[in-house]
Amino acid sequence: MRLSLRTPAFPILVLAAAARVAAAGLEAGVAKTTITPDVTAAKVYMAGFGNNRVASGVHDDLWVRCLALSAGTDKLVMCGVDLIGFFYDDVLKVRAQVKAQRPDVTQLIVASAHDHEGPDTMGLWGPSPLQSGIDPAYMDTLDDRIATTAIQALQSLKPARVVLGRDDHPLLALLQDDSRPPYVKDPHLFVMQFTATDGATIATLVNWSDHPETLDSKNTLITADYPHWLREYVEQHGGGTALFFNGSIGGLLSTLGDQVSLLDPDTGEVARDATWRKAELFGDTVGELAMRAVDRKGGAGVEAPVDSIVIRQKVIFAPIENDGFRVGGALGVFRGRKGLWTNGKPDPTVEQRDMPQFGGKVPYATGHDLQTEVDYIQFRGGGKLLAEIATVPGEIYPELVNGGITRYPGADYPDAPFEPTVRAGMRSPFPMIFGLANDELGYIIPKCEWDSKPPWLQNRKSHWYGEVNSAGPEVAGAVTQSLRALMEGE
Ligand SMILES: [Zn+2]
Repeated sequence: MRLSLRTPAFPILVLAAAARVAAAGLEAGVAKTTITPDVTAAKVYMAGFGNNRVASGVHDDLWVRCLALSAGTDKLVMCGVDLIGFFYDDVLKVRAQVKAQRPDVTQLIVASAHDHEGPDTMGLWGPSPLQSGIDPAYMDTLDDRIATTAIQALQSLKPARVVLGRDDHPLLALLQDDSRPPYVKDPHLFVMQFTATDGATIATLVNWSDHPETLDSKNTLITADYPHWLREYVEQHGGGTALFFNGSIGGLLSTLGDQVSLLDPDTGEVARDATWRKAELFGDTVGELAMRAVDRKGGAGVEAPVDSIVIRQKVIFAPIENDGFRVGGALGVFRGRKGLWTNGKPDPTVEQRDMPQFGGKVPYATGHDLQTEVDYIQFRGGGKLLAEIATVPGEIYPELVNGGITRYPGADYPDAPFEPTVRAGMRSPFPMIFGLANDELGYIIPKCEWDSKPPWLQNRKSHWYGEVNSAGPEVAGAVTQSLRALMEGE
């Protein structure tokens, strides 16, 4: 496979010396701002299902919520946004804006919850497949609000303690429908709860994997979906500000589907699909498990003496093999984002190609690669590794994270080597995966399970869903190998 690496814009930061820096203990700060689009000012195309789903109102606000952390010599800001995806181009703009005011920031991460009930920020769900659903004015506002919120979080840094928790309750797997073999899920729930020296909660970060699409495709009211109720539950029961970061949701792990049922305690019946009640029960259920995970009285949460944060970053180039993305990009579906690269340089070349699947002659972007990024973060204390975060620029199939890649008859590359398992390189009890972090490249699929041509996997009569929303079969290798290299300290 072809994988080219270059020196990142920021150097790879290995801060082994941080633990020796005196009196710079853990500090935490949090801020939140609404990013709800004004559905009365302009047409808001909703993301995640079919084209031309126009928002008719707002059920609950969308948010950017930023957690700033400082330890040793480093400052990390992690922002979660209630969006379908947020491209690397915008992340770089936000970083530049924050760095201009706060040059002391080591790293800023923006991760999308992958909300299917919010505005189209990727361009794929406009009036028709080749007409963008992105509102550029909204995107500018978004970049500003994320940057401002990150700075506010940094301004509110204060001495803090952190309790780490996790839960592997069987219910968590039952809340994830997996619609494609191999049926590997990622049920693990991780929680970081930060408290001030007076004991008041500053923030609670919840990391779990599931598509926020409980309201399904017919809903036209803007909502954050289940993360809205999850955060409300956590704030009501634990105080402070709650943040949600989605995990490994490819494959695809969904809140919709046969395997997902929740009993409504008010009616004694299973909550109906695509109802507000189901989304509420969903958020409450995960919220309850999150609070249990950091309940020190119950013996679950562990206090972590964090005294340094190690941040490693790698900019990577992954070959693109999706003609829809190439044509869409050339037609302006991404509104100038997602430009292609060749040999480590921007490559804006577009040529006319006859493509019957797009109705004849269309512009086609010919560049070789997409540029994106992976990060690996360690929380350390007293020289020990306490917790980790790996950021993934898309929807990664859980078998790439937890193991279980499988060869099937019908695959396009049946002999492709297995990619390295991401979590096999993580050595703490809290190996968190932040999906859709700093980018959204769509599905990240093991190459030997790639299937864009008949015969189909397991000799099924019709194609499996996945490849149409993936940049290509080489992305998984580029992402997993780069993450494992960062974990090894390379
Ligand atoms: Zn998705």
